[in-house]
Amino acid sequence: MLSTMQDVPLLISRILNHGSALHGTSQVITWTGEGEPERRSFAEIGTRAAQLAHALREDLGVESDDRVATLMWNNADHVEAYFAIPSMGAVLHTLNLRLPVEQLAWIVNHAADRVVIVNGSLLPLLAPLLPHLKPVEHIVVSGPGDRSLLDGASAQVHEYEELLAGKPTAYDWPELDERSAAAMCYTSGTTGDPKGVVFSHRSIYLHSMQVNMAQSMGLTDEDTTLIVVPQFHVNAWGLPHATFMTGVNMLMPDRFLQPGPLAEMIDKVRPTHAAAVPTIWQGLLAELTARPRDVSALTQVTIGGSACPPALMGAFDKLGMRVYHAWGMTETSPLGTIARPPAHVVGTEQEFAYRLTQGRFPAGVEARLTGPGGERLPWDGESAGELEVRGPWIAGAYYGGEGAEPLRPADKFSEDGWLKTGDVGTISPDGFLTLTDRAKDVIKSGGEWISSVELENALMAHPDVTEAAVVAVPDEKWGERPLATVVLKEGATADFAALRSFLADEGKIAKWQLPERWTIIEAVPKTSVGKFDKKVLRRQYAEGELDVSQI
Ligand code: ADP
Repeated sequence: MLSTMQDVPLLISRILNHGSALHGTSQVITWTGEGEPERRSFAEIGTRAAQLAHALREDLGVESDDRVATLMWNNADHVEAYFAIPSMGAVLHTLNLRLPVEQLAWIVNHAADRVVIVNGSLLPLLAPLLPHLKPVEHIVVSGPGDRSLLDGASAQVHEYEELLAGKPTAYDWPELDERSAAAMCYTSGTTGDPKGVVFSHRSIYLHSMQVNMAQSMGLTDEDTTLIVVPQFHVNAWGLPHATFMTGVNMLMPDRFLQPGPLAEMIDKVRPTHAAAVPTIWQGLLAELTARPRDVSALTQVTIGGSACPPALMGAFDKLGMRVYHAWGMTETSPLGTIARPPAHVVGTEQEFAYRLTQGRFPAGVEARLTGPGGERLPWDGESAGELEVRGPWIAGAYYGGEGAEPLRPADKFSEDGWLKTGDVGTISPDGFLTLTDRAKDVIKSGGEWISSVELENALMAHPDVTEAAVVAVPDEKWGERPLATVVLKEGATADFAALRSFLADEGKIAKWQLPERWTIIEAVPKTSVGKFDKKVLRRQYAEGELDVSQI
């Protein structure tokens, strides 16, 4: 029997219409580096998104399904592109401006982007790439920057503001199939070649509702969210869409992502919530310690993308910014879990331990653990296996390229269609995920697993340590053993023996797991999205570039 309910497709244009009409006075506030930040209301974003769609269709000939790429910072123009492109039926392709240039060119060609909207400040990155970007016919430049860099380009060059000027301020958004492509984003390639994940209108709509739930980020129109996580990184964790549903103001840092300007915008604009990866927060913490500011408005911070070190969570708690730890990946839109402790532990000693987990699965995400032999493992908080997930905002395949079938590599998808995350962890009986490692980073020592993440967290809790990364290195006797690479604070005196006994103290780390290989490095190499790049460390070790001590 069919239901009697209306079948209204879940479309990005509906989110746009709602936000720009019912929350028309909410604002996107873009930091400009000097003077007052630029403020644009949701109502203006709505009319300008309509103008952008007219320009793309009438002046540039963009058709349904055409890919329109953005090479942009987080700012109001980028929010307009976020809504205009999918709403008109085209596909928004956000480009990660931190990728190595060869990868960026590969991705543009693979996605067959016809148009690139670029911030003027990023022309030095785009211009030298242009001869290699075959499918790109049009370049649209927004904001300040040296246009002469594009002299001689074979693609047509347009000014963003000139394209919008005089265009109608409303657009008759098409009634699309909610399962059609709305946006795409390539994974950052931490674990291999970039892979294209294509989000649907439906997946983005449902994911936005999840982001808004009280047990996720739970923001309202009284809030302002500082969106540090880039719009090119999994749709800025869904925040631009979620905020248009509820009228949350957005504070966008544009290119001012250094700790100093971030601290200043928190002080001046007074956001109540912020979202970023741990590396950004480490930098901000050091800045606030050196030069205290008024950060009293900021009471909620979402941290994800890599594990939040306990020391960082503790330090932010002391500043009055409550950290909520979340886990996800490009393939999961990204919200997969968020660590809001269950009511019965709030105020007890267990609360902090719950907050340090990756968090609880929401209703839209089903999870299971698979052991090394393919067996299902129980949710007992102890059995560690690879996490597999499924749900309406979880990828079921990767983009295969123009006209090609979607890709379903066996190491990424189970035969029954679940996403294999490549993350190893445990799940408690009440559904809280604790990641112990990535499948490829775990150290396999004499048939047992050592978690590199656990060692790193324990090391980073030492007062002399700024950062630490632990990687598996080959060992004749044990197969693999951990190598600890440590960044010391300026003027720090700790030596390896002291660090090793710090790890062993109070049984924090079992004796057989303690590293015997140690090295000091200047900084942990990072991927384009700020995660520890252990590939680089493993290579440096293999090529003898690290000065390793044995203790
Ligand atoms: P990439 O795989 O290219 O780094 P993603 O940004 O999609 O791109 O990264 C997803 C991965 O990041 C997850 O599979 C997981 O390993 C890691 N990750 C994300 N959030 C957390 C977290 N809170 N704790 C630990 N690891 C995390």
